[in-house]
This record gives sequence, structure tokens and C-alpha cells, in this order.
Amino acid sequence: MTVSSQYAKPLPGESPESKPYWEAARRHELVFQSCGSCGRKIHFPRVVCPGCLSRNLQWRKALGIGSVYSYTIIYRQGVHPGFASDIPYVYAIIELEEGVRMISNVINVDPLKVTIGMKVNVVFDDVTDKVSIPKFEPLQGKGLDKKASCQL
Ligand SMILES: [Zn+2]
Repeated sequence: MTVSSQYAKPLPGESPESKPYWEAARRHELVFQSCGSCGRKIHFPRVVCPGCLSRNLQWRKALGIGSVYSYTIIYRQGVHPGFASDIPYVYAIIELEEGVRMISNVINVDPLKVTIGMKVNVVFDDVTDKVSIPKFEPLQGKGLDKKASCQL
């Protein structure tokens, strides 16, 4: 992977299995694998289906909309010094509309306003000229729950 002097955080590793995922992210497309044998939807990228062990996996484009399945707010620096300026930040499991779950960040929101079930949409953080990282932000408009909307 390219190391940027501008970007202080570790860059994601790219394996043969994950290469299509990261290439899609560079195009600002969110993709996941689907098993052509049993229909299981899969993330993270793999060689075989974890359900039926088939190698008949295909890439599908996600709508890029989902909800917060679980999350935590990171208040302490410790993982890597590059994240210090982001504290506090939201580390979350996002469940896409298609049913797959992925680890990401919820950004562009006060971390204390994030809730389980909050509707989110993908945004792409172009961290270098070759790497874009999918992150999520609150879905504008109808996606906000009534409590959050009242506070705005
Ligand atoms: Zn399968």
C-alpha cells in the first residue's frame, strides 16, 4: 500500500480477496460479496462462502444505506497516535440494507447523538490519492429518529 506523508493513520491492507472491495471504494462504490450457491451475503471479503464453502462468490453493489447495529465511542488514544485528533470518535458496526454488517466509523455527527438503529449512509473518505475508506454519516431527513430530529 502507498504510504502518504499527509495521512497519519495506518492504511488498510489489500489482499487478493479484498482488492475488488478497495477498488470499488476508490470509485466511491460500496460492494460486498454474495454466494452464487446459497445466496449468503458476505463481508469481509473471502475466498469461500462461510455458509456452504462454495467458491462461487460474486460482487454486488450496495445501496450504501444502513443502520447502526452497535457502536462505541472512543475517548482514549491508544490504538495508534494518528487517531488522537479524532477523539472522541464513533467506532461502529453498520448493518447495510442488504443485510451485511461492516465495521466503520460514524462521522459528521456529535458522537453523543449516535443511537442504535440510527439510519446512516455511506460517504467515502479519500485519505490518499489511491485509498478511499467507506465511512457512514446520519442519513439526512427521514433517516433521523424523531428524538434526534427534535434536538436539531
Ligand atoms: Zn454459500
